[in-house]
Amino acid sequence: MPAHKASLSENASCGLTTVRGSASRVVLLGRQGAGKGTQAERLAAHFDVPRISTGDMFRAGADTGADLNGDLSRSMKAGELMPDVVVVEMVRARLSHTDAIETGFVMEGFPRNVAQAEALDSMLAPDGLDVAVELVVPSDLVRMRLASRRVCVDCGANYSVAQPPRSGWTCDVCGGQVVSRQDDNQAAIDRRLALYEEQSAPLIEWYRRTGRLAAVDGTGNPDTVSQNLLATVTDHHARAQPNVGGLNQGGKS
Ligand code: AMP
Repeated sequence: MPAHKASLSENASCGLTTVRGSASRVVLLGRQGAGKGTQAERLAAHFDVPRISTGDMFRAGADTGADLNGDLSRSMKAGELMPDVVVVEMVRARLSHTDAIETGFVMEGFPRNVAQAEALDSMLAPDGLDVAVELVVPSDLVRMRLASRRVCVDCGANYSVAQPPRSGWTCDVCGGQVVSRQDDNQAAIDRRLALYEEQSAPLIEWYRRTGRLAAVDGTGNPDTVSQNLLATVTDHHARAQPNVGGLNQGGKS
């Protein structure tokens, strides 16, 4: 991982200061509904690196006509996973962009199993991943969150039945329509959580065994989760690269 000199500036989201030029290669793990999307967005803004979400990439593909016969939409709606070879090549292409090469990334939705994680390691060789952070939220709580989750069809901003947009179901950020995600129906939620236990739980164990796993409690207030997540990632940076980590810690708000 290249060690850049970091500089600080204001980050509008959630009170985390932006640290420009602090290379960061982070993966967020956790059940669907654990808050990975929101937290990845905030952490990526903090480090000024791209947020890479394979789920968003597939949803964009389904929305923009790349899904000619509708197979992609049908699979996602049913909560099924895409073939490893497809996902791995999509991620490889995304990681070849200059932004990810030069500054790193915060990734969520990938890897989802050990085979994908091994493929990611080979893409990142020789520098490798900094840390995989599991956002820990029990399954009964994520079930409640998924059932009440609403998202903007245009910008992906997250809402819930308890915290709707200010005006009807119109997005506060971009004015888009706010709806339930197609795969937040009960059958797909069951299937996605079952697949998580089957494939992603062993992945977490694998990252633990390879010494790159950290865990953060994802049940609390999102701003508190953000602060704890940042502290965890910063701590890993500090241990891996004392100079860069020291600058990052100095930038914490
Ligand atoms: P997510 O938004 O991460 O829950 O992903 C939405 C959907 O995209 C999943 O249910 C899968 O159909 C597909 N998908 C996203 N990431 C992956 C992945 N790493 N492996 C297989 N399928 C994926």
